[in-house]
Amino acid sequence: MILKFSNSYIHLGDAFYQRVSPTPVSKPELLFWNNTLAESLQLSESLQNNAALKAQYFSGNFLPEGAESIALAYCGHQFGHLSPQLGDGRAHLIGEVLDNNNHRFDIQLKGSGSTPFSRQGDGRCALGPAIREYIMSEAMYFLAVPTTRCLAVVTTGESVYRETLRPGAVVTRVASSHIRVGTFQYFAIRNDIESLTTLLDYAINRHYPEIKEAPGNRVIPFLESVIAKQIALVVNWMRVGFIHGVMNTDNVAISGETIDFGPCAMMGIYDPHTVYSSIDKQGRYAFGNQPNITLWNMTRLAECLLPLISHDEKEAIAIVEPLLSQFTQKFEHAYFGMLANKLGLVEIELSDKDFIIELLNQMKNKQLDYTQMFTDLTQSLDDEDLANELKETLGDWYDRWKVYLGDSTENMKLATALMKTNNPVVIPRNHHVERVLTACEETGNTQAADDFLTVLRSPYNELANTINYQDVPMDEDRNYRTFCGT
Ligand code: AMP
Ligand code: MG
Repeated sequence: MILKFSNSYIHLGDAFYQRVSPTPVSKPELLFWNNTLAESLQLSESLQNNAALKAQYFSGNFLPEGAESIALAYCGHQFGHLSPQLGDGRAHLIGEVLDNNNHRFDIQLKGSGSTPFSRQGDGRCALGPAIREYIMSEAMYFLAVPTTRCLAVVTTGESVYRETLRPGAVVTRVASSHIRVGTFQYFAIRNDIESLTTLLDYAINRHYPEIKEAPGNRVIPFLESVIAKQIALVVNWMRVGFIHGVMNTDNVAISGETIDFGPCAMMGIYDPHTVYSSIDKQGRYAFGNQPNITLWNMTRLAECLLPLISHDEKEAIAIVEPLLSQFTQKFEHAYFGMLANKLGLVEIELSDKDFIIELLNQMKNKQLDYTQMFTDLTQSLDDEDLANELKETLGDWYDRWKVYLGDSTENMKLATALMKTNNPVVIPRNHHVERVLTACEETGNTQAADDFLTVLRSPYNELANTINYQDVPMDEDRNYRTFCGT
């Protein structure tokens, strides 16, 4: 057996998916293989050294024994507008496995052919976006941000048309589930209360088992838990400068993992208005708007759940309202707590918020690089020259910060440790991601990506090669644009 499948979603019923197999490809070749992830998923040893066999399985040409291939139904608000029918248009969930910690993961092929949900799409994925998802998700994982991961990228030997002809690929995504806000919306807008209840029970069992036994209506603790996970996720994104780029409700996972890496990018110079996605003309998904959008998305989820709270809509609204109105306060608490940690402070009084905001304003006005600034602040604790440089740049803010930290050896130790675990020395900077994608596409080998990944897998500790990936691009990313990975 290649994978020990233990499928559960398939038992939810026909309304939840369409049974459909991947469409075989002509010449599958294994390009990337995530060894450590493979080990944790307990893949069969017979596969380990057989690239040709991996290529067959993870292109969708063969389905492993026990696989039950389905395309999931969901809908979603895209840029604020409801699309009542989306669903996996180019992905196949081939099954679920339990990892070596007994955690359940979906194994999904993406780019593996059309499904009943494909609409106008070709069901395929271009190689560039597949590698981008592999690199970005791996980087996020090691940055300690909750995320889906990639097990493999297989080239198909076929071309896909994306303005020009591009090489095609199938990427294998491993996720703690593919239940999205849009999955709840799918049933809510169809008034299918039975399926909605089934989905809620399933999501609680799979992701929030601690509330299974909660007294009273379980919708409230469920919503509370999902909101808490989303806040933690966005705060983590903002800690490392990540811009998701397309936070449509179909791209928000109930598990609280980062999912769908289409037009994502990393912020260089600190500016909350930063947007790189070419389709996000209004800046809806700008760096600093991510919390607002999260609240918007959570409000859409709450709306779906109203009929499960009370038949009286007014009463149901009155019950969920407080959860949503507490969002901003809870977010701010987590957000400023995170920034305090980035500055070496364990906790921060609400009145100290202004002190943090002052630094952010300076960074914005002086066009300072977000990652570099926090790395410098960390290193300045035991580098006097750097400390003096920062004093030049930040004026008396720097001295006030040092007063905040207190100068006892104990305090310094604590601050240094906190800063080193919260401030990455390297992130997947956009120009390096692009350079590496181009190199892989042009050479057909993965050397450039492997070198990059070695560094990205150690984002809080400098390796010999880290320095090669820390530079800020010449144009400071002013001209950088990303495109949806479709
Ligand atoms: P995304 O922008 O990747 O989140 O996708 C939004 C929706 O479009 C989802 O329902 C996808 O399955 C579908 N989709 C994206 N690309 C394709 C494609 N090449 N073929 C078919 N469906 C697609
Ligand atoms: Mg999507």
